Amino acid sequence: MAVSSERCADTVAELVRIPSVNPLHRGPIADAAGPIGEAAIAHHLADRFRDLGADEVVLDEVADDISDDTGVERPNVYGRFVGRTDRLVVLDVHTDTVTVEHMTDPPFDGRIADGRVWGRGALDTKASLGVMLALLEQWRADAVEPEPTLLVVGSVSEEAGGLLGAARLRQWIGERSLEIDQLLVAEPTRLAPIHGHKGGVAIEVTVHGTAAHSALPDLGANAIEAMAHVITAYEAEHRRLQTVPPETELGTSTVSVTTIDGGTGGNVIPAECRITVGQRIVPGQVANEVHERLIRIAHESSPLPVTCRSLLPPQPDGTHGSDAFYQPPTGDLVRVLAESAGTSPTVAPFGTNALRYGGLARELVVFGPGRIDDAHQATECVAIDDLTRLAACYEAWLRPT
Ligand SMILES: [Zn+2]
Repeated sequence: MAVSSERCADTVAELVRIPSVNPLHRGPIADAAGPIGEAAIAHHLADRFRDLGADEVVLDEVADDISDDTGVERPNVYGRFVGRTDRLVVLDVHTDTVTVEHMTDPPFDGRIADGRVWGRGALDTKASLGVMLALLEQWRADAVEPEPTLLVVGSVSEEAGGLLGAARLRQWIGERSLEIDQLLVAEPTRLAPIHGHKGGVAIEVTVHGTAAHSALPDLGANAIEAMAHVITAYEAEHRRLQTVPPETELGTSTVSVTTIDGGTGGNVIPAECRITVGQRIVPGQVANEVHERLIRIAHESSPLPVTCRSLLPPQPDGTHGSDAFYQPPTGDLVRVLAESAGTSPTVAPFGTNALRYGGLARELVVFGPGRIDDAHQATECVAIDDLTRLAACYEAWLRPT
């Protein structure tokens, strides 16, 4: 029997009612709603996985600075559902949501109205978890099994803090030497299979000068004026990159200076100036090399001493930032999802957990209902029609009989 749209909507709503705001996005409204972070929903999912017949359920605490400082639990949760074959596929859904402090709608009521489920996380990305739970429930009632063995993952720390849950999942899979055939990362993609997006690095550059009275500038060394040279050099690097013919649909790599800070008063030569500079990485580039090049540009262009630091937490292997994620759109999973959703494969302008999964599975795809443009807004909802379409896509993928 096909799973009902009501059951899909109810299950998504139930997940919305469990607050799971990323600890870096906390605020008074989130704090008043219950424990901060992903722990409550991870424990709920572990219980649900057991009820639904998972043969293995794991709560896997992800170590990070936030849990070290505050004692907030941040577990990934894994549920394994044995299929008719031992071909292993993974659905990875991040359990954290962005902030609710700017919402004009009740963030956690999970109300069902106007053909939609409303609340923070409904779209990004509890819809995918809710539909998978509803399907597993239906399959259990009908005594059917999926063809592949399915690992359902709820991962922490996607919205902020550097994809720590995804990095930990990668390690966990490595520790067990699991061979993953297909890995589907859930995000709002309008049910179009995404087969690539850019990676990135971000650094902070600080120019160190000497303060002096601005009436006697020659007694000092002006850090802001020196930084102007650095910014000009990054602009030149951006223009150079636009002349490199792109290898894929992802287009060219780009460099942007996005924050600047410096100076202490109108009559003081500034002793320090800081900027944030980031580069979006395309296939063929290596994140560590891009990182090194950005640092070299700062040192070579500044007339004053410079220090640089990465703004992204290093990956377990020490990599700063992320390579791009890209596979040609020719795989089975891309084809099955596009056919059943009636959409076309495409690439995305935004990054996802897929940045941590390069080479981890034979096929890697990002896929889910709704538009990313509607995520992180003052209201959030997902259309129940899209949940039903997603259920049909998962069925086409997992072929339960
Ligand atoms: Zn998301």
